[in-house]
Amino acid sequence: MSFAGKPQVWFLTGGQHLYGPETLDQVAAQSQQIQRMLSESGRISTEIVWKPVLTDAAAIRGIMQEANNDPSCVGVIAWMHTFSPAKMWITGLDLLRKPLLHLHTQLNEALPWSTIDMDFMNLNQAAHGDREFAYIQTRIGVARKTVAGHASDPHLAERIDGWARAAAGVAHLRSLKLARFGDNMRDVAVTEGDKVEAELRFGVSVNTYGVNDLVAKVDAVSDADIDLLVADYAETYRLAAELARGGDRHDSLRYAARIEIGLRSFLDEGGFGAFTTNFQDLGGLRQLPGLAVQRLMADGYGFGGEGDWKTSALLAAVKAMGVGTGRGTSFMEDYTYHFGPGTPKILGAHMLEVCPTIAADQPSCEIHPLGIGDREDPVRLVFDATPGPAVVIGLADLGDRFRLVANEITVVPPDEPLPNLSVARAVWQPAPSLSTSAECWLTAGGPHHTVMTHAVGAETLRDFATMAATELVLIDSSTTPAQFGDRLRWNAAYHRLAAGIR
Ligand code: MN
Repeated sequence: MSFAGKPQVWFLTGGQHLYGPETLDQVAAQSQQIQRMLSESGRISTEIVWKPVLTDAAAIRGIMQEANNDPSCVGVIAWMHTFSPAKMWITGLDLLRKPLLHLHTQLNEALPWSTIDMDFMNLNQAAHGDREFAYIQTRIGVARKTVAGHASDPHLAERIDGWARAAAGVAHLRSLKLARFGDNMRDVAVTEGDKVEAELRFGVSVNTYGVNDLVAKVDAVSDADIDLLVADYAETYRLAAELARGGDRHDSLRYAARIEIGLRSFLDEGGFGAFTTNFQDLGGLRQLPGLAVQRLMADGYGFGGEGDWKTSALLAAVKAMGVGTGRGTSFMEDYTYHFGPGTPKILGAHMLEVCPTIAADQPSCEIHPLGIGDREDPVRLVFDATPGPAVVIGLADLGDRFRLVANEITVVPPDEPLPNLSVARAVWQPAPSLSTSAECWLTAGGPHHTVMTHAVGAETLRDFATMAATELVLIDSSTTPAQFGDRLRWNAAYHRLAAGIR
């Protein structure tokens, strides 16, 4: 699975012939300046690719078809420099299958009050040119994000970057292959879902493999490869003495390395970017995969425990959105509460599988018994999560549609050290409070498995939901249970109408 390659966003400019070729040359030069301001802001992770000014319907259809067909193009930005009569955009917008951002801006920042004349006015008329374009987008019903402001504003560049990151996540999900080792944990409801609808809606292809297909790969790993990986572990983590070379339980570490190499080769040979495991279906595996899952997540693979393919796919998408931020994203589960004293908090963790990209410090590599899974003691990385703002997001299948539920949170240090807790964990304060957050999350039917991310914010996740035409309900500092309950009822009506009859 390759996560390399910088995605592109194409910068399209609308113009027209009314003012003559000289004006069109000026339009081209000015739109290149806007493109350069965005590119050189250093705040946009995707490449912003300038395209020649568009002045007729055939050219617009052509560029939209090119955008659809080019896998490196994850989205399109459109800006109407001069008044660009919008009927020329109808057939092109109707063809477009990539995410669209309408940038509402103009080259000139300050009005030249003392010298302004009609030539200036005609060259800086996006204020109404973009309104004409917005009308046709609304008339057609094109899903898009609208961003208004001057291109020199760092906040504008950051918002474009957030949108571009969402587009990269959608593009990743569109071609994602997900391998499930075994089915869901028996009798669990929320991890179930419609895999056919998921492939249509998100693009992800979800299929199950016998866990012993994986075991065959694991058993075939060479001792030499295990030697190398175990040496890597010793350099990368604080390794418990019993796991180190010569320690009593070194063989357990070697078996953990064997799982990692086997699992990685299974995924890479099959082109899988995400996977699930189930502790009830481990076949011939001697340990529940812990360390291996943690390290694969750190490399960008999606993961869900207990067969949870929806969270695994979502994790892969959010990881693609966060590439290059230097901030982490992990599989997470709401585990237990601290109601007080002090500010109420949630302690999140999983049996083993929390991604070390969210670790505050160098993880400790340890081995402890696990009462679940009926296997040998598994090796795992133990750490506390990095404090700071983050978002948790979960995906539920409501039967007639998917629903994303998200909560803005602040990860905080544990109130006290947790010396007896032998798994990686995160402690956080949910916005606006634990009680409102939990009441709203439960009312929305949000799942207990989530993706926790420090790398992208709520606006990017909302852009992602818009692009995937999927409901998102966000719990943030302004949320009240009453207003949230109303939103769920309105959303139900909207989404059922929007789905239409089929
Ligand atoms: Mn779980």
